[in-house]
Amino acid sequence: MKVNLKEQGVQYEAVIGLEIHAQLLTESKMFCGCSAKFGAEPNTQTCPVCIGMPGVLPVANKKAIEYVIKTGLAVDCKIAPYSRFARKNYFYPDLPKGYQISQYELPICEGGFVEIAVDGEKRKIGLTRIHLEEDAGKSIHEGSGNMSLVDLNRAGTPLMEIVSEPDIRTPKEAAEYVKKLRAIVRYLGVCDGNMEQGSLRCDANVSVRPVGQKEFGTKTEIKNMNSFRFIEKALEYEIKRQIKLLNEGGRIVQETRLWDSNKGITESMRSKEEAHDYRYFPDPDLVPIEVNDALLKEIKSQAVEMPDAKRERFISRYGLPEHDAGLLTSEKATAEWFEEAVKLGGEPKAVSNWMMGEMMRLLNKENKQIEECGLKPEQLVGLLKIIDEGKINVIAGKTIFEAMYYKQGYMIGTLPKFQLTAEGIAEEKGLLQISDAGEIESIVDRIIADSPNEAERFRGGDMKLMGFFVGEVMKATKGKANPKIVNELLKKKLKTEN
Ligand code: ADP
Ligand code: ZN
Ligand code: MG
Repeated sequence: MKVNLKEQGVQYEAVIGLEIHAQLLTESKMFCGCSAKFGAEPNTQTCPVCIGMPGVLPVANKKAIEYVIKTGLAVDCKIAPYSRFARKNYFYPDLPKGYQISQYELPICEGGFVEIAVDGEKRKIGLTRIHLEEDAGKSIHEGSGNMSLVDLNRAGTPLMEIVSEPDIRTPKEAAEYVKKLRAIVRYLGVCDGNMEQGSLRCDANVSVRPVGQKEFGTKTEIKNMNSFRFIEKALEYEIKRQIKLLNEGGRIVQETRLWDSNKGITESMRSKEEAHDYRYFPDPDLVPIEVNDALLKEIKSQAVEMPDAKRERFISRYGLPEHDAGLLTSEKATAEWFEEAVKLGGEPKAVSNWMMGEMMRLLNKENKQIEECGLKPEQLVGLLKIIDEGKINVIAGKTIFEAMYYKQGYMIGTLPKFQLTAEGIAEEKGLLQISDAGEIESIVDRIIADSPNEAERFRGGDMKLMGFFVGEVMKATKGKANPKIVNELLKKKLKTEN
Protein backbone atom coordinates (compact mmCIF):
# COMPACT_ATOMS: atom_id res chain seq x y z
CA MET A 1 0.00 0.00 0.00
CA LYS A 2 1.54 3.28 -1.06
CA VAL A 3 0.20 6.34 0.66
CA ASN A 4 1.05 9.56 -1.03
CA LEU A 5 1.34 12.44 1.40
CA LYS A 6 1.98 15.31 -0.91
CA GLU A 7 2.39 18.06 1.67
CA GLN A 8 5.37 16.26 3.14
CA GLY A 9 6.44 14.90 -0.20
CA VAL A 10 6.96 11.54 1.51
CA GLN A 11 5.62 8.37 0.03
CA TYR A 12 5.75 5.38 2.31
CA GLU A 13 5.74 1.69 1.62
CA ALA A 14 5.07 -1.12 4.04
CA VAL A 15 7.41 -3.99 4.85
CA ILE A 16 5.73 -7.13 6.17
CA GLY A 17 7.03 -10.49 7.40
CA LEU A 18 4.72 -13.24 8.65
CA GLU A 19 5.12 -15.98 11.20
CA ILE A 20 2.62 -18.78 10.71
CA HIS A 21 1.94 -21.49 13.26
CA ALA A 22 0.40 -24.62 11.84
CA GLN A 23 -0.84 -27.37 14.11
CA LEU A 24 0.30 -30.68 12.69
CA LEU A 25 -2.25 -33.42 12.07
CA THR A 26 -0.52 -36.12 14.07
CA GLU A 27 -2.42 -38.64 16.19
CA SER A 28 -0.29 -38.00 19.26
CA LYS A 29 1.48 -35.03 20.81
CA MET A 30 5.03 -33.90 20.06
CA PHE A 31 6.89 -35.54 22.92
CA CYS A 32 4.45 -37.99 24.54
CA GLY A 33 1.76 -40.47 23.53
CA CYS A 34 -1.25 -38.33 24.50
CA SER A 35 -3.90 -37.75 21.84
CA ALA A 36 -3.51 -34.47 19.95
CA LYS A 37 -7.18 -34.37 18.98
CA PHE A 38 -9.04 -31.07 19.30
CA GLY A 39 -12.20 -30.60 21.33
CA ALA A 40 -11.98 -33.13 24.19
CA GLU A 41 -13.06 -32.34 27.77
CA PRO A 42 -10.44 -30.10 29.44
CA ASN A 43 -7.37 -31.84 30.84
CA THR A 44 -8.39 -35.32 29.68
CA GLN A 45 -5.46 -35.64 27.25
CA THR A 46 -2.49 -35.17 29.54
CA CYS A 47 0.32 -37.18 31.08
CA PRO A 48 3.40 -36.51 33.24
CA VAL A 49 5.40 -35.46 30.15
CA CYS A 50 3.05 -32.83 28.80
CA ILE A 51 2.13 -31.38 32.17
CA GLY A 52 5.81 -31.00 32.97
CA MET A 53 6.35 -33.34 35.93
CA PRO A 54 9.95 -33.62 37.02
CA GLY A 55 12.01 -36.61 36.01
CA VAL A 56 10.19 -37.45 32.77
CA LEU A 57 11.83 -37.76 29.36
CA PRO A 58 10.36 -36.45 26.11
CA VAL A 59 10.60 -38.52 22.93
CA ALA A 60 10.18 -36.71 19.61
CA ASN A 61 7.25 -37.65 17.37
CA LYS A 62 8.72 -38.95 14.11
CA LYS A 63 5.57 -38.21 12.12
CA ALA A 64 5.74 -34.53 13.10
CA ILE A 65 9.34 -34.33 11.90
CA GLU A 66 8.33 -35.95 8.60
CA TYR A 67 5.47 -33.47 8.18
CA VAL A 68 7.84 -30.52 8.56
CA ILE A 69 10.24 -32.04 6.02
CA LYS A 70 7.33 -32.69 3.65
CA THR A 71 6.28 -29.06 3.90
CA GLY A 72 9.87 -27.86 3.50
CA LEU A 73 10.29 -29.87 0.32
CA ALA A 74 7.03 -28.50 -1.10
CA VAL A 75 8.28 -24.92 -0.74
CA ASP A 76 11.87 -25.51 -1.85
CA CYS A 77 13.55 -25.30 1.56
CA LYS A 78 16.96 -26.70 2.33
CA ILE A 79 16.44 -29.63 4.71
CA ALA A 80 19.07 -29.65 7.42
CA PRO A 81 20.80 -33.02 7.77
CA TYR A 82 21.25 -32.18 11.43
CA SER A 83 19.06 -29.97 13.59
CA ARG A 84 18.08 -29.84 17.21
CA PHE A 85 15.54 -28.78 19.79
CA ALA A 86 16.04 -25.83 22.11
CA ARG A 87 14.33 -24.66 25.27
CA LYS A 88 12.63 -21.29 25.17
CA ASN A 89 12.29 -20.24 28.79
CA TYR A 90 9.44 -18.14 30.12
CA PHE A 91 6.75 -18.35 32.76
CA TYR A 92 3.07 -18.57 32.06
CA PRO A 93 0.31 -20.59 33.77
CA ASP A 94 -0.41 -22.55 30.59
CA LEU A 95 3.24 -23.62 30.30
CA PRO A 96 3.80 -26.01 33.18
CA LYS A 97 7.43 -26.86 32.39
CA GLY A 98 8.49 -23.22 32.49
CA TYR A 99 9.88 -23.58 29.00
CA GLN A 100 8.62 -24.41 25.54
CA ILE A 101 10.53 -26.92 23.45
CA SER A 102 11.23 -25.25 20.13
CA GLN A 103 14.11 -24.93 17.68
CA TYR A 104 16.48 -22.01 17.65
CA GLU A 105 19.83 -21.86 15.92
CA LEU A 106 19.38 -25.12 13.98
CA PRO A 107 15.87 -25.45 12.49
CA ILE A 108 14.83 -28.39 10.27
CA CYS A 109 14.24 -26.21 7.18
CA GLU A 110 15.84 -23.03 5.87
CA GLY A 111 15.27 -20.92 2.77
CA GLY A 112 12.68 -21.65 0.13
CA PHE A 113 9.83 -19.49 -1.15
CA VAL A 114 6.12 -19.29 -1.80
CA GLU A 115 4.80 -17.79 -5.02
CA ILE A 116 1.74 -15.57 -4.84
CA ALA A 117 -0.26 -13.65 -7.42
CA VAL A 118 -1.94 -10.33 -6.69
CA ASP A 119 -3.86 -8.59 -9.48
CA GLY A 120 -2.25 -10.91 -11.99
CA GLU A 121 1.25 -10.03 -10.86
CA LYS A 122 3.33 -12.94 -9.57
CA ARG A 123 5.79 -12.51 -6.71
CA LYS A 124 8.03 -14.84 -4.78
CA ILE A 125 7.98 -14.46 -1.01
CA GLY A 126 11.14 -15.82 0.58
CA LEU A 127 11.06 -18.09 3.60
CA THR A 128 13.54 -17.72 6.42
CA ARG A 129 12.93 -21.04 8.10
CA ILE A 130 10.45 -23.70 9.14
CA HIS A 131 10.90 -25.21 12.55
CA LEU A 132 9.14 -27.57 14.88
CA GLU A 133 7.93 -26.76 18.37
CA GLU A 134 5.29 -27.70 20.91
CA ASP A 135 2.18 -25.71 21.67
CA ALA A 136 1.29 -24.38 25.12
CA GLY A 137 -1.95 -25.10 26.99
CA LYS A 138 -4.93 -22.79 26.93
CA SER A 139 -5.97 -20.27 29.57
CA ILE A 140 -9.72 -19.82 29.84
CA HIS A 141 -10.93 -16.54 31.27
CA GLU A 142 -14.56 -16.54 30.20
CA GLY A 143 -17.29 -18.17 32.23
CA SER A 144 -15.08 -18.96 35.19
CA GLY A 145 -16.04 -16.11 37.51
CA ASN A 146 -13.05 -14.18 38.79
CA MET A 147 -10.71 -17.10 38.18
CA SER A 148 -8.78 -18.20 35.15
CA LEU A 149 -8.76 -21.87 34.25
CA VAL A 150 -6.08 -23.81 32.42
CA ASP A 151 -6.71 -26.60 29.92
CA LEU A 152 -3.56 -28.58 29.18
CA ASN A 153 -4.98 -30.73 26.37
CA ARG A 154 -3.18 -28.55 23.84
CA ALA A 155 0.08 -28.48 25.83
CA GLY A 156 2.67 -30.38 23.85
CA THR A 157 0.76 -30.68 20.57
CA PRO A 158 3.10 -30.30 17.58
CA LEU A 159 3.34 -26.94 15.85
CA MET A 160 5.23 -26.06 12.72
CA GLU A 161 6.34 -22.43 12.54
CA ILE A 162 6.88 -20.97 9.10
CA VAL A 163 8.77 -17.66 9.13
CA SER A 164 8.82 -15.47 6.03
CA GLU A 165 11.43 -12.97 4.99
CA PRO A 166 10.26 -9.33 5.12
CA ASP A 167 9.36 -9.60 1.42
CA ILE A 168 5.66 -8.78 1.61
CA ARG A 169 4.66 -5.23 0.67
CA THR A 170 0.88 -4.95 0.95
CA PRO A 171 -1.90 -6.29 3.20
CA LYS A 172 -3.39 -8.04 0.18
CA GLU A 173 -0.12 -9.83 -0.53
CA ALA A 174 -0.02 -10.90 3.10
CA ALA A 175 -3.49 -12.44 2.86
CA GLU A 176 -2.58 -14.14 -0.44
CA TYR A 177 0.58 -15.54 1.12
CA VAL A 178 -1.38 -17.06 4.02
CA LYS A 179 -3.99 -18.44 1.61
CA LYS A 180 -1.30 -20.08 -0.47
CA LEU A 181 0.44 -21.62 2.53
CA ARG A 182 -2.87 -22.82 3.91
CA ALA A 183 -3.64 -24.52 0.59
CA ILE A 184 -0.19 -26.13 0.61
CA VAL A 185 -0.42 -27.61 4.12
CA ARG A 186 -3.93 -28.84 3.41
CA TYR A 187 -2.82 -30.44 0.12
CA LEU A 188 -0.02 -32.15 2.01
CA GLY A 189 -2.44 -33.27 4.72
CA VAL A 190 -0.11 -32.00 7.46
CA CYS A 191 -2.51 -29.38 8.91
CA ASP A 192 -6.27 -28.86 8.60
CA GLY A 193 -5.79 -25.10 8.14
CA ASN A 194 -8.73 -24.18 10.36
CA MET A 195 -8.09 -20.53 11.26
CA GLU A 196 -11.19 -20.11 13.39
CA GLN A 197 -10.26 -23.00 15.67
CA GLY A 198 -6.67 -21.80 15.65
CA SER A 199 -4.99 -24.73 13.96
CA LEU A 200 -3.50 -22.16 11.58
CA ARG A 201 -2.44 -18.91 13.27
CA CYS A 202 -0.62 -15.93 11.87
CA ASP A 203 1.44 -13.18 13.51
CA ALA A 204 2.28 -10.24 11.29
CA ASN A 205 5.39 -8.07 11.62
CA VAL A 206 5.04 -4.73 9.90
CA SER A 207 7.02 -1.54 9.47
CA VAL A 208 6.94 1.39 7.04
CA ARG A 209 9.71 3.28 5.28
CA PRO A 210 9.93 6.09 2.74
CA VAL A 211 9.90 4.66 -0.78
CA GLY A 212 13.48 4.37 -1.98
CA GLN A 213 14.95 3.90 1.49
CA LYS A 214 16.88 0.65 1.89
CA GLU A 215 16.84 0.26 5.67
CA PHE A 216 13.76 -1.11 7.34
CA GLY A 217 11.79 0.95 9.81
CA THR A 218 10.97 -0.17 13.35
CA LYS A 219 8.43 -2.98 13.27
CA THR A 220 5.46 -3.91 15.37
CA GLU A 221 4.08 -7.42 15.65
CA ILE A 222 0.32 -7.96 15.36
CA LYS A 223 -1.38 -10.99 16.86
CA ASN A 224 -4.90 -12.34 17.06
CA MET A 225 -6.09 -12.26 13.45
CA ASN A 226 -8.08 -15.42 12.81
CA SER A 227 -9.19 -14.92 9.22
CA PHE A 228 -7.77 -13.72 5.90
CA ARG A 229 -9.99 -10.68 6.07
CA PHE A 230 -8.73 -9.72 9.52
CA ILE A 231 -5.10 -10.11 8.41
CA GLU A 232 -5.76 -7.63 5.64
CA LYS A 233 -7.74 -5.23 7.84
CA ALA A 234 -5.32 -5.32 10.77
CA LEU A 235 -2.37 -4.60 8.48
CA GLU A 236 -4.19 -1.79 6.70
CA TYR A 237 -4.99 -0.21 10.03
CA GLU A 238 -1.48 -0.66 11.40
CA ILE A 239 0.24 0.75 8.31
CA LYS A 240 -1.95 3.85 8.41
CA ARG A 241 -1.32 4.24 12.14
CA GLN A 242 2.45 4.07 11.68
CA ILE A 243 2.50 6.54 8.78
CA LYS A 244 0.31 8.99 10.67
CA LEU A 245 2.54 8.74 13.73
CA LEU A 246 5.68 9.38 11.67
CA ASN A 247 4.12 12.33 9.90
CA GLU A 248 3.21 13.86 13.23
CA GLY A 249 6.85 13.67 14.22
CA GLY A 250 6.43 10.64 16.46
CA ARG A 251 8.43 7.46 16.40
CA ILE A 252 7.35 3.82 16.21
CA VAL A 253 7.82 1.77 19.34
CA GLN A 254 8.80 -1.83 18.80
CA GLU A 255 6.00 -3.74 20.46
CA THR A 256 3.43 -6.48 20.19
CA ARG A 257 -0.07 -5.29 19.32
CA LEU A 258 -3.38 -7.10 19.45
CA TRP A 259 -5.96 -6.86 16.68
CA ASP A 260 -9.42 -6.06 18.05
CA SER A 261 -11.85 -7.16 15.36
CA ASN A 262 -14.82 -5.46 17.06
CA LYS A 263 -13.17 -2.08 17.20
CA GLY A 264 -11.23 -2.59 13.97
CA ILE A 265 -7.97 -1.39 15.54
CA THR A 266 -4.67 -2.73 16.87
CA GLU A 267 -3.79 -2.04 20.50
CA SER A 268 -0.50 -2.22 22.34
CA MET A 269 -0.05 -5.45 24.30
CA ARG A 270 3.56 -5.29 25.42
CA SER A 271 6.58 -3.27 24.39
CA LYS A 272 10.09 -4.44 23.64
CA GLU A 273 11.19 -3.29 27.10
CA GLU A 274 8.81 -5.79 28.63
CA ALA A 275 9.76 -8.45 26.13
CA HIS A 276 11.14 -11.73 27.40
CA ASP A 277 14.70 -12.81 27.33
CA TYR A 278 14.04 -16.41 26.48
CA ARG A 279 17.50 -17.71 27.38
CA TYR A 280 17.40 -20.29 24.60
CA PHE A 281 19.66 -23.29 24.99
CA PRO A 282 19.78 -26.75 23.42
CA ASP A 283 17.44 -29.22 25.11
CA PRO A 284 19.65 -31.77 26.87
CA ASP A 285 16.82 -34.34 27.06
CA LEU A 286 16.36 -34.70 23.32
CA VAL A 287 18.67 -36.20 20.74
CA PRO A 288 19.37 -34.11 17.65
CA ILE A 289 17.26 -34.69 14.55
CA GLU A 290 19.23 -36.42 11.85
CA VAL A 291 17.75 -36.60 8.38
CA ASN A 292 19.49 -39.12 6.17
CA ASP A 293 19.13 -39.63 2.42
CA ALA A 294 16.92 -42.67 2.83
CA LEU A 295 14.34 -40.73 4.85
CA LEU A 296 14.49 -37.79 2.44
CA LYS A 297 14.00 -40.12 -0.49
CA GLU A 298 11.05 -41.79 1.15
CA ILE A 299 9.35 -38.48 1.91
CA LYS A 300 10.06 -37.21 -1.61
CA SER A 301 8.41 -40.32 -3.03
CA GLN A 302 5.18 -39.32 -1.28
CA ALA A 303 5.14 -35.91 -2.99
CA VAL A 304 1.75 -34.83 -4.29
CA GLU A 305 0.92 -32.28 -6.96
CA MET A 306 0.83 -28.81 -5.38
CA PRO A 307 -1.93 -26.23 -6.02
CA ASP A 308 0.03 -24.14 -8.54
CA ALA A 309 1.06 -27.12 -10.63
CA LYS A 310 -2.48 -28.47 -10.55
CA ARG A 311 -3.90 -25.13 -11.65
CA GLU A 312 -1.53 -24.98 -14.62
CA ARG A 313 -2.42 -28.55 -15.57
CA PHE A 314 -6.16 -27.81 -15.35
CA ILE A 315 -5.64 -24.93 -17.77
CA SER A 316 -3.54 -26.85 -20.29
CA ARG A 317 -5.24 -30.22 -20.07
CA TYR A 318 -8.90 -29.25 -19.73
CA GLY A 319 -8.80 -25.88 -21.45
CA LEU A 320 -10.27 -24.16 -18.40
CA PRO A 321 -10.02 -20.39 -17.94
CA GLU A 322 -7.48 -19.33 -15.30
CA HIS A 323 -10.28 -18.24 -12.97
CA ASP A 324 -11.98 -21.66 -13.03
CA ALA A 325 -8.69 -23.51 -12.65
CA GLY A 326 -7.72 -21.35 -9.68
CA LEU A 327 -10.99 -21.93 -7.86
CA LEU A 328 -11.16 -25.65 -8.59
CA THR A 329 -7.62 -26.28 -7.36
CA SER A 330 -7.76 -24.15 -4.22
CA GLU A 331 -8.83 -27.28 -2.34
CA LYS A 332 -7.53 -30.72 -3.18
CA ALA A 333 -10.91 -32.38 -2.61
CA THR A 334 -12.58 -29.94 -5.03
CA ALA A 335 -9.97 -30.69 -7.69
CA GLU A 336 -10.47 -34.42 -7.19
CA TRP A 337 -14.25 -34.11 -7.48
CA PHE A 338 -13.82 -32.21 -10.75
CA GLU A 339 -11.39 -34.72 -12.22
CA GLU A 340 -13.62 -37.63 -11.25
CA ALA A 341 -16.57 -36.03 -13.07
CA VAL A 342 -14.46 -35.39 -16.16
CA LYS A 343 -13.15 -38.93 -16.10
CA LEU A 344 -16.75 -40.16 -16.11
CA GLY A 345 -17.41 -38.22 -19.30
CA GLY A 346 -18.43 -34.75 -18.10
CA GLU A 347 -17.41 -31.90 -20.41
CA PRO A 348 -14.79 -29.96 -18.38
CA LYS A 349 -16.21 -26.45 -18.72
CA ALA A 350 -19.76 -27.64 -18.06
CA VAL A 351 -18.62 -29.54 -14.95
CA SER A 352 -16.71 -26.47 -13.81
CA ASN A 353 -19.73 -24.20 -14.32
CA TRP A 354 -22.04 -26.40 -12.26
CA MET A 355 -19.46 -26.84 -9.53
CA MET A 356 -18.63 -23.14 -9.26
CA GLY A 357 -22.28 -22.17 -9.55
CA GLU A 358 -24.91 -24.43 -8.01
CA MET A 359 -22.61 -26.65 -6.02
CA MET A 360 -20.63 -23.88 -4.29
CA ARG A 361 -23.86 -21.99 -3.69
CA LEU A 362 -25.48 -24.93 -1.90
CA LEU A 363 -22.33 -25.82 0.03
CA ASN A 364 -21.82 -22.21 1.14
CA LYS A 365 -25.44 -21.97 2.20
CA GLU A 366 -24.90 -24.82 4.64
CA ASN A 367 -21.32 -23.82 5.43
CA LYS A 368 -20.18 -27.25 4.24
CA GLN A 369 -16.99 -28.55 2.70
CA ILE A 370 -17.02 -30.49 -0.54
CA GLU A 371 -16.20 -33.66 1.41
CA GLU A 372 -19.68 -33.38 2.91
CA CYS A 373 -21.37 -32.81 -0.45
CA GLY A 374 -24.20 -35.28 -0.89
CA LEU A 375 -23.96 -35.09 -4.66
CA LYS A 376 -21.59 -37.47 -6.41
CA PRO A 377 -19.68 -36.77 -9.64
CA GLU A 378 -21.55 -39.50 -11.54
CA GLN A 379 -24.85 -37.79 -10.70
CA LEU A 380 -23.68 -34.48 -12.18
CA VAL A 381 -22.42 -36.29 -15.28
CA GLY A 382 -25.86 -37.91 -15.67
CA LEU A 383 -27.45 -34.49 -15.41
CA LEU A 384 -25.14 -33.00 -18.05
CA LYS A 385 -26.00 -35.87 -20.34
CA ILE A 386 -29.76 -35.34 -20.29
CA ILE A 387 -29.32 -31.58 -20.71
CA ASP A 388 -27.09 -32.30 -23.69
CA GLU A 389 -29.63 -34.67 -25.18
CA GLY A 390 -32.33 -32.01 -24.86
CA LYS A 391 -34.33 -34.15 -22.44
CA ILE A 392 -34.49 -31.29 -19.95
CA ASN A 393 -33.71 -27.61 -20.02
CA VAL A 394 -31.21 -25.79 -17.82
CA ILE A 395 -33.87 -24.46 -15.45
CA ALA A 396 -35.11 -27.98 -14.80
CA GLY A 397 -31.46 -28.94 -14.45
CA LYS A 398 -31.12 -26.67 -11.44
CA THR A 399 -34.18 -28.22 -9.80
CA ILE A 400 -32.80 -31.69 -10.40
CA PHE A 401 -29.35 -30.70 -9.16
CA GLU A 402 -30.85 -29.47 -5.92
CA ALA A 403 -32.98 -32.59 -5.51
CA MET A 404 -29.92 -34.80 -5.95
CA TYR A 405 -27.92 -32.61 -3.59
CA TYR A 406 -30.54 -32.87 -0.85
CA LYS A 407 -31.31 -36.51 -1.78
CA GLN A 408 -34.95 -35.71 -2.46
CA GLY A 409 -36.44 -38.38 -4.64
CA TYR A 410 -39.62 -40.36 -4.33
CA MET A 411 -40.18 -42.37 -7.44
CA ILE A 412 -37.21 -44.64 -7.06
CA GLY A 413 -38.35 -45.44 -3.58
CA THR A 414 -36.88 -48.91 -3.80
CA LEU A 415 -33.42 -47.61 -4.57
CA PRO A 416 -31.06 -46.24 -1.94
CA LYS A 417 -31.03 -42.43 -2.03
CA PHE A 418 -27.43 -42.20 -3.17
CA GLN A 419 -28.44 -43.89 -6.40
CA LEU A 420 -30.79 -41.09 -7.37
CA THR A 421 -30.17 -40.30 -10.99
CA ALA A 422 -30.87 -37.07 -12.82
CA GLU A 423 -33.03 -38.88 -15.35
CA GLY A 424 -35.01 -40.63 -12.61
CA ILE A 425 -35.75 -37.37 -10.84
CA ALA A 426 -36.62 -35.65 -14.12
CA GLU A 427 -39.15 -38.35 -14.83
CA GLU A 428 -40.56 -38.39 -11.33
CA LYS A 429 -40.92 -34.61 -11.19
CA GLY A 430 -42.32 -34.46 -14.72
CA LEU A 431 -39.46 -32.32 -15.93
CA LEU A 432 -38.63 -34.24 -19.08
CA GLN A 433 -38.97 -32.08 -22.16
CA ILE A 434 -40.99 -33.14 -25.12
CA SER A 435 -38.34 -33.47 -27.78
CA ASP A 436 -40.37 -35.65 -30.07
CA ALA A 437 -40.73 -33.41 -33.11
CA GLY A 438 -43.85 -35.24 -34.27
CA GLU A 439 -45.65 -34.67 -31.00
CA ILE A 440 -44.71 -31.00 -30.91
CA GLU A 441 -45.66 -30.57 -34.57
CA SER A 442 -49.24 -31.66 -33.99
CA ILE A 443 -49.55 -29.18 -31.11
CA VAL A 444 -48.05 -26.41 -33.24
CA ASP A 445 -50.45 -27.19 -36.06
CA ARG A 446 -53.42 -27.07 -33.72
CA ILE A 447 -52.40 -23.74 -32.20
CA ILE A 448 -51.85 -22.12 -35.58
CA ALA A 449 -55.24 -23.41 -36.68
CA ASP A 450 -56.84 -22.06 -33.50
CA SER A 451 -55.35 -18.60 -33.94
CA PRO A 452 -55.92 -17.61 -37.56
CA ASN A 453 -55.87 -13.86 -36.84
CA GLU A 454 -52.52 -13.97 -35.10
CA ALA A 455 -51.13 -16.22 -37.81
CA GLU A 456 -52.16 -13.76 -40.47
CA ARG A 457 -50.67 -10.80 -38.62
CA PHE A 458 -47.45 -12.69 -38.18
CA ARG A 459 -47.25 -13.51 -41.85
CA GLY A 460 -47.99 -9.89 -42.51
CA GLY A 461 -44.76 -9.01 -40.76
CA ASP A 462 -45.69 -8.63 -37.06
CA MET A 463 -42.73 -10.65 -35.81
CA LYS A 464 -43.51 -9.87 -32.19
CA LEU A 465 -46.23 -12.51 -32.38
CA MET A 466 -43.57 -15.23 -32.33
CA GLY A 467 -43.59 -14.83 -28.56
CA PHE A 468 -47.32 -15.38 -28.47
CA PHE A 469 -47.07 -18.66 -30.38
CA VAL A 470 -44.15 -19.97 -28.31
CA GLY A 471 -46.16 -19.07 -25.19
CA GLU A 472 -49.20 -20.97 -26.44
CA VAL A 473 -47.17 -24.09 -27.20
CA MET A 474 -45.55 -23.93 -23.79
CA LYS A 475 -48.93 -23.49 -22.14
CA ALA A 476 -50.26 -26.51 -23.98
CA THR A 477 -47.27 -28.62 -22.98
CA LYS A 478 -46.96 -27.27 -19.43
CA GLY A 479 -43.60 -25.78 -20.35
CA LYS A 480 -42.11 -29.09 -21.34
CA ALA A 481 -41.69 -28.68 -25.05
CA ASN A 482 -38.09 -28.41 -26.16
CA PRO A 483 -37.89 -24.68 -26.97
CA LYS A 484 -35.43 -25.17 -29.80
CA ILE A 485 -37.76 -27.54 -31.63
CA VAL A 486 -40.77 -25.32 -30.95
CA ASN A 487 -39.02 -22.32 -32.48
CA GLU A 488 -37.88 -24.22 -35.53
CA LEU A 489 -41.31 -25.70 -36.16
CA LEU A 490 -43.14 -22.41 -35.69
CA LYS A 491 -40.82 -20.64 -38.12
CA LYS A 492 -41.24 -23.36 -40.67
CA LYS A 493 -45.02 -23.58 -40.37
CA LEU A 494 -45.76 -19.88 -40.29
CA LYS A 495 -43.72 -19.39 -43.46
CA THR A 496 -44.43 -22.38 -45.64
CA GLU A 497 -48.16 -21.97 -45.29
CA ASN A 498 -47.73 -18.55 -46.85
P1 ADP B 1 12.33 -10.80 16.17
O1 ADP B 1 13.75 -10.70 16.55
O2 ADP B 1 11.48 -9.70 16.67
O3 ADP B 1 11.76 -12.17 16.40
P2 ADP B 1 12.95 -11.49 13.47
O4 ADP B 1 14.08 -10.80 12.81
O5 ADP B 1 13.18 -12.85 14.00
O6 ADP B 1 12.34 -10.56 14.60
O7 ADP B 1 11.77 -11.55 12.42
C1 ADP B 1 10.50 -11.99 12.74
C2 ADP B 1 9.58 -11.71 11.56
O8 ADP B 1 9.52 -10.31 11.34
C3 ADP B 1 10.06 -12.29 10.25
O9 ADP B 1 8.95 -12.77 9.54
C4 ADP B 1 10.70 -11.12 9.53
O10 ADP B 1 10.58 -11.25 8.13
C5 ADP B 1 9.89 -9.97 10.03
N1 ADP B 1 10.62 -8.71 10.10
C6 ADP B 1 11.85 -8.49 10.59
N2 ADP B 1 12.17 -7.20 10.54
C7 ADP B 1 11.11 -6.55 10.02
C8 ADP B 1 10.82 -5.17 9.75
N3 ADP B 1 11.67 -4.20 10.02
N4 ADP B 1 9.62 -4.88 9.22
C9 ADP B 1 8.72 -5.85 8.98
N5 ADP B 1 8.94 -7.15 9.21
C10 ADP B 1 10.11 -7.51 9.74
ZN1 ZN C 1 1.15 -36.24 27.39
MG1 MG D 1 12.86 -13.97 15.83
